[in-house]
Amino acid sequence: MPDFSIGVDLGGTNLRIAAISTEGQMLEKVTLSTKGVLGPDHVVGEMCEAILRLTEQYRAAGRFLGVGVGFPGLIDMETGMLRKSANLPGWSDYPVRGEIERRLGARVFLENDANVAALGEKWLGAAREVDDMAMITLGTGIGGAIVLDGKIFHGMNGMSGEFGHVTIEPDGVPCGCGNHGCAERYASATAIVRMGREAIEAGTAPALARLAASGAEFSAKAIYDLAMGGDEPAQRIFHRFGRALGMLLADLVNVLNLNMYVVGGGVVSAWDAFAPSMFAEVRERSIVYVATAPSDPLAAAKSGSGTRRQTIITRAILGSDAGLYGGARLPAE
Ligand SMILES: [Zn+2]
Repeated sequence: MPDFSIGVDLGGTNLRIAAISTEGQMLEKVTLSTKGVLGPDHVVGEMCEAILRLTEQYRAAGRFLGVGVGFPGLIDMETGMLRKSANLPGWSDYPVRGEIERRLGARVFLENDANVAALGEKWLGAAREVDDMAMITLGTGIGGAIVLDGKIFHGMNGMSGEFGHVTIEPDGVPCGCGNHGCAERYASATAIVRMGREAIEAGTAPALARLAASGAEFSAKAIYDLAMGGDEPAQRIFHRFGRALGMLLADLVNVLNLNMYVVGGGVVSAWDAFAPSMFAEVRERSIVYVATAPSDPLAAAKSGSGTRRQTIITRAILGSDAGLYGGARLPAE
């Protein structure tokens, strides 16, 4: 029987926990709501209860190796303390690793959520055949991770891969990080909605204005549906989105020269609307990409093949489970 470990995806709204075998089989997945208002002690208590139930249940199946937690924010890798999280206010300086270890008596690994998603895609997803890759996760913001020789590159103190705050517009929109013109101000779900509202204010987007007035949710998904239905103002938003993401990717390709760049996160479902503009922009701005791109980048992205010595830009394939697989991979390595 294979050994198993527990992957935890601790998000702002959901707490997901999975028992996963070292062979990559999802044994069981549990979803709880993150009752953030009740504080970290309460959430960690519920998490540990669920983990104990799973480890009891699968004990007979194999050895329990430990727990890997993906967390949305900055982590101090040495102390296992949380530094800062926009999605989980009140968790700053909470000794999350120590608390879980104390309650479970098991080995616990803590990682940034973008890093565990990248590890998941590296282990069982789009990047399983390559050693060096970066991942960009598109959600309310942009997350990033760099994997070198199969291992997460952490930088000096765990803060590498902050792709969302790379400047792509010198005089651009202000960002919560204090900078302005950050990539995530132009290529995220939040950015799509903001650009939609701006188009309405400019009076150039009648279909978007009707959507906003209809009482239906004015979401990135609704704007995507308009774009795919042929609405030009909505299509322009995804063109802008694709260009911004392409600029960010061109910088990454020029600097890192990795084999694969995986684009994931909820907003990657809008791939068809933004990918052509994204690829055109990377080609325009990256000399390294032009020298190493496959002859048909969109087809290469679709096949998911990581041809050696080429720069492959492709979609993630594990969806929201990538973080669970990546978390479970941490104690198994
Ligand atoms: Zn920023």
